[in-house]
Amino acid sequence: MTAALPTVDEALLARVRAALEALTDPEIPVVTLADMGILRDVRAAADDPALVEVVITPTYSGCPAMAQIEDDVRATLERLGVPARVVTQLAPAWTTDWMSEAARAKLRAYGIAPPGRCAGPTPAGERVLRFVPRAAGDEAVACPRCGSTHTREVSRFGSTACKALWQCLDCREPFDHFKPH
Ligand SMILES: [Zn+2]
Repeated sequence: MTAALPTVDEALLARVRAALEALTDPEIPVVTLADMGILRDVRAAADDPALVEVVITPTYSGCPAMAQIEDDVRATLERLGVPARVVTQLAPAWTTDWMSEAARAKLRAYGIAPPGRCAGPTPAGERVLRFVPRAAGDEAVACPRCGSTHTREVSRFGSTACKALWQCLDCREPFDHFKPH
């Protein structure tokens, strides 16, 4: 028996999950880590029932926001006073398909065209290679302001490496497009 140690129970996990789900993406403050699919799991550690294990998956390797995200997660856990560890899970790799519909709607409202779907539903455990460049014209990117798909890519890199700069040919507004990944 480990009666001396407080066992992590569902109520505690729910409290930790709620606090972490409220954290936002440092680059796109309108979406939360949960919306983005970065926060993967909050659970009791398998090897220590008194320890909370938080699983996060980085969006892009080398994404500068990830260090900030980890700091935010750790600061939140410290504030809650919960013994916890943060596990960075690299496989399966994050994909923009993990973004929730809520995240896509929030991006659009923020003026960023959300990514299209990379692939159809992936059976669990199946590896999908995603680094093949998409053919030009493969995907219609709708202007987040007027909804027109009469748009063109201006630059592969927008305000951050994970976004491309596009322009709407109807309303003439430039906008960021979150690249499918
Ligand atoms: Zn437009």
